[in-house]
Amino acid sequence: MDKMTSRREFLKKCIQVPIGGSVVLGLAACGKDEAAALVCANENLMTASEKSMRQTLKYTETSPDPAKTCKDCAFFKATTGPAGCGTCEMFTGKQANAGGWCVSWSAKT
Ligand code: SF4
Repeated sequence: MDKMTSRREFLKKCIQVPIGGSVVLGLAACGKDEAAALVCANENLMTASEKSMRQTLKYTETSPDPAKTCKDCAFFKATTGPAGCGTCEMFTGKQANAGGWCVSWSAKT
């Protein structure tokens, strides 16, 4: 359901921006919005303890350090789900963003 909403919003932005400006700028903005809008972890589907764990570990969907992202973390496993999403062992196998980060980040060996 959220995936459908996200696609709908993405398509709206792709259509609206070119109407107000040039087509080239519109296409560039669509790509940027889509990357920034990718949210892998749906808090509406989490228990209170799962939310608490994410807050304790200061999880973010976008890493503040491009050299330390979930995709390069030992606890991250890529999945066949939405592109850019995977799972994290710290979150009992629940979703994490490949571009995300938390204080438990540990380099893959
Ligand atoms: S431990 Fe933290 S940095 Fe590593 S995959 Fe999980 S959420 Fe990402």
